[in-house]
Amino acid sequence: MTTTFQCTRCGECCRIPGQIHLTETDIARMAAFLKLTEQDFIQRHTDLARDRRDLVIKGDPASPCQFLRGNDCVIYPVRPEQCAAYPAKWNNPGWENICKRDVGGG
Ligand code: SF4
Ligand code: SF4
Repeated sequence: MTTTFQCTRCGECCRIPGQIHLTETDIARMAAFLKLTEQDFIQRHTDLARDRRDLVIKGDPASPCQFLRGNDCVIYPVRPEQCAAYPAKWNNPGWENICKRDVGGG
C-alpha cells in the first residue's frame, strides 16, 4: 500500500491496545533524546515483551504507552519504528476512521 499523508499527531494510534516493540536503534535514539544511558532507559521505560523476544515500552492495557501525554507524543522526533510505520506499513481494521491524518485534500 502506498499512502501519502501528513501525520497530525492526533494520538489515536497510540491508544491501540497492544505493545510497542523496540529495535536496538529505537532504544539508542530514545535514550539519547531523553539524555539517559541505554541501560537507564531500558530499566525505566521498557518491559520484556509478552513473547519475550524483545523489549517493549512500559505500559498497561488501559494506557499502552507512557510517552503519550494527552494527545501528544513527548518523544515524537525519535518515536519507535513501529509507531512511524503506522498506518502505511501496518494498520488495523477500520484504521481509515481512526487515523486523523491530513491527506492534503486528496
Ligand atoms: S512512542 Fe509516541 S508515537 Fe509511539 S505509541 Fe508512544 S506516544 Fe504514540
Ligand atoms: S492516528 Fe494517524 S494522524 Fe494520528 S498520530 Fe497516528 S499516524 Fe498520526
